[in-house]
Formats: sequence, structure tokens, C-alpha cells
Amino acid sequence: MVDKEFSFCDNVDRMADKAVDVLGLEKGLASAIKGCNAVLELRFPVEIQGKVEVFKGWRALHSIHRLPSKGGIRYATTVNQDEVKALAALMSYKCAIVDVPFGGSKGGVCIDPSKYTRDEMRMITRRYARELATRGFLSPSTNVPAPDMGTGQREMAWILDTYKHLHPDDINYVACVTGKPVHLGGVRGRVEATGRGVQYVLREFFRHSDDVAAAGLTGGLGGKRVVLQGLGNVGYHAGKFVSEEDGALIVAIIERDGALVNEAGISVEKVKEYLLENGGVKGYPEAAFVEDGSSVLEMECDLLIPAALEGVIHKGNAHRIKARVVAEAANGPTTFAADEILVNNGVTILPDAYVNAGGVVVSYFEWVRNLSHIRFGRMEKRFEESRGRQIIEAIQESTGKVFTGATLGALTKGPDELALVRSGLDDTMRGAYEQIRQMKESKGLKDFSTAAFVIAIEKIARSYQDVGVL
Ligand code: NAD
Repeated sequence: MVDKEFSFCDNVDRMADKAVDVLGLEKGLASAIKGCNAVLELRFPVEIQGKVEVFKGWRALHSIHRLPSKGGIRYATTVNQDEVKALAALMSYKCAIVDVPFGGSKGGVCIDPSKYTRDEMRMITRRYARELATRGFLSPSTNVPAPDMGTGQREMAWILDTYKHLHPDDINYVACVTGKPVHLGGVRGRVEATGRGVQYVLREFFRHSDDVAAAGLTGGLGGKRVVLQGLGNVGYHAGKFVSEEDGALIVAIIERDGALVNEAGISVEKVKEYLLENGGVKGYPEAAFVEDGSSVLEMECDLLIPAALEGVIHKGNAHRIKARVVAEAANGPTTFAADEILVNNGVTILPDAYVNAGGVVVSYFEWVRNLSHIRFGRMEKRFEESRGRQIIEAIQESTGKVFTGATLGALTKGPDELALVRSGLDDTMRGAYEQIRQMKESKGLKDFSTAAFVIAIEKIARSYQDVGVL
């Protein structure tokens, strides 16, 4: 599906090249930034039901200008070295855009997880983790994985435990992985963080009426017609939040086996339940089914949220895309060639390296929480509550006005971990939007994607130059 002319890596490199040109960066430095520092290719055997199976996996280390290097682990049959390298590069750029002090990395195993039992997946994951740890590609201080397509809290828990047994004297072992279950040191709000981040990006976009007008839209997120591709971790949460909390109307959901369309709106929650029960969306009663799911990407809508896989908007279909805004929740859903076609057609692209950064932002919070060995809010929650009460009492005494109900509750509630994580994520996504907007304006750029990449390359270049690496 990816643009035949270029690999995923080439597509990412071309975006970086555009930014390098804008900055007039020296070629040697640009090449140092763009290329992967190291790529580990693994073949590892695991005994499955009495037979030895050999699995192929990778971990690419794109940059180490900040440590640890950070990036998810993907389990899919489509995983290959080029993809892992491209995703590792995107991680470097992503972290720079949202001011997360990490380098970029990514891992993957070529596997169909649905074909193996839970115990078999545990053995495969533990073996992969052991290979990574013994080769220096897994550690709280240098390389920290997280979930990506096909992996989740369960896999992160297995990886954590594998590392812990190999390094029992590492007091920070819990920080070797993020996206863990909360009872094993995970942070509240990490599971939904990427989707939540997509929501915060869209909210911020709709706060800027000039950007909204430039996309040919008016008003806010409420009532906007959304086509959503992928109902996995990212797509499900993004779709659920924008529809249930902001009033956006999900008019189509595209999944692996086809698409559902209903102009009156589709319940993300109900479709997710149906998908989990039936393994596909075909047969869902409250929407029309379209066998050729990818054709639905071309449906008339306000927002298109590709949240499944890379290369779905390519040279072959880009000119037929009718959405006014494409919010790239997946990594690399638009090829370089398609990106240019969309921009020339006046479509606003909110780029992946920014839009789906919520996961790594909250992973950063989780890593910090693990290193400090204390849950966010534990020290200040009750203190803030009593301070709130004191202020209220002082105001009541001086004004004679008595606060009651929801207002009193809100003013005297101390922040818990989830509230703090959400606030930190919201602030980060808003801050990054402002930086991208300013860069777009100051350099006279046509699109948000180039502006985001210029920011990333500029920050990484500065960190290389500051320490005199080159
Ligand atoms: P996931 O495995 O949870 O979900 C992927 C979903 O896409 C599944 O529901 C799957 O059935 C669906 N899908 C697969 N092929 C499809 C097709 N051809 N058409 C339509 N739907 C299809 O994965 P995820 O974690 O939600 O990741 C999705 C994307 O977001 C990936 O590009 C990933 O790299 C990116 N991403 C994920 C995170 C994260 O925190 N999980 C963070 C940043 C970026």
C-alpha cells in the first residue's frame, strides 16, 4: 500500500530533507540526524507446541542525542527492517516536537499474535526482551520500549519482568519500559494517551479560527463529520473522546474487513464491542457495510483520522480525498507524494509526528514517575485540598457569599494522578501546536507537516552542535 516509488524510510527522509532545505542545514549534519545510529536484527528460536519456530525481530536506534532512546514495539506480519527504521526516525522527530527529552528508537517482531496462545506470546516476548537486554537495546537509561500495534500492557509487563530478572540490582528497573499496567508502575492515563492526545490536538486546532477557515471549515469540533480508520488503541480512544466529549459525528469507521457508514453517526463504543466479539465489523446492525474499506477514505467529510497503518493515503488515491483536515493519528499514513497532492488541493494535514505524540508524552511522565519512585499527586493532593478549603473559607468570610455544590467540589478537590497526567498532556500538545504555527508563519510555509519537521530537525541539530559532536 505504501507508495511504490519510495519505502517508508524514504518517505520519512524526504520530509526531513524538506526541513533541512528550509533550515539550510549543512549536509553532513543533516545526514547524521537522518540516519539510524544502529539497527539490531534478530533471529530467535522458541519452542511452540513441541516444535522449534524461529522468529525475526528488530530494534532500531535512530538517535541518542537524548537518552534514553524511546519507541514502541510492534507485532505484525508486515514488520520489516525498513519500517522499524522509519518508525524509529519518526520517534526522534516526535520527541523533539513535543519537547520530550528522549532519542528515537523502535522495535518489531514479524508475527501474527492472533495465531498464538497467551503462554506462547509470553515465551516469544520474553525471549525477544532477553535478546534486547543482553545486547544493550533495553534499559531504563538507554533504550525504553512502549506498546505499538499488536502489543499492549501485557507485553510490557513481560518485558519488565524479563529485564528485572537479568538486572536485579538496577533500582530503576521499572523504568525499562512504559505502557505497563498501573499495578506494576504504569501511570494512569497511558493506555488512552495517544487517542487523548489526538483529541487535544483537534481541540487546539479548532481554537484557531484562521487555521479552521484556511481548511475551509467553520465553528468548533462539535458536529464535525469524521471518518475514522482503525479501531485499535489509538483509533478507538480518539474516536470515542471526540464523539462522546466534543460532539463530533463519526460517519464512517474503516476496519480490516471493510467499513461501516452511517450519516446519522456511529457509536464507537458499540462498534468496538462488536469488533471484539466478532473479529470484524461486517454484520454490525446500525450502519451500512462497505466491503472495500479503503474506498471510504475518499468519502466526503470534515475530518479524516487514519489511525491504523502507514501508507494508506498514497499517490493513487490522494487526489480523491475529500476531507478538509487529515489528522494523522497513525504513523506515516500519508506518503510523501500524497502529502504534496493533499497540500496542493488545500487539505490541512496535521502531521503524525505531532498528532500521535500523546503516547510518548505520557510515557515520559511514566518514566519520570518510575525514576522518582512515587505516584504523581501523592504528596500534594490533600495539601491542595486543604489550601482550597482555606481560600474558600477566606472568600466566604470576606464576601458573605457561600459556595456550594459543584463549584465548592471543584475548588476543594486536590489533583490526582490522572488529572495531572491529562493536564500535562494537554499543555504539551497545546504548546507544540503554538510552536508549529509560529514556525509555519515565520518561515512562510504552506503546511503544518513541514513546519513540524523543521522544528524537530532544528532542535536535534542544536543539541548535536551544542555538545560538539560534529
Ligand atoms: P492496534 O493494533 O491497537 O490497532 C490497529 C487497528 O487497525 C486494529 O483495530 C486493526 O484491526 C486495524 N487495521 C489493521 N489493518 C487495517 C486496515 N487495512 N484497514 C483498517 N483498519 C485496519 O494499533 P495502535 O496501537 O492503535 O496503532 C495504530 C497506529 O498508531 C500505528 O500506526 C501506530 O504506530 C500508531 N501509534 C500508536 C501509538 C500507541 O500508543 N499505541 C502511539 C503512537 C502512534
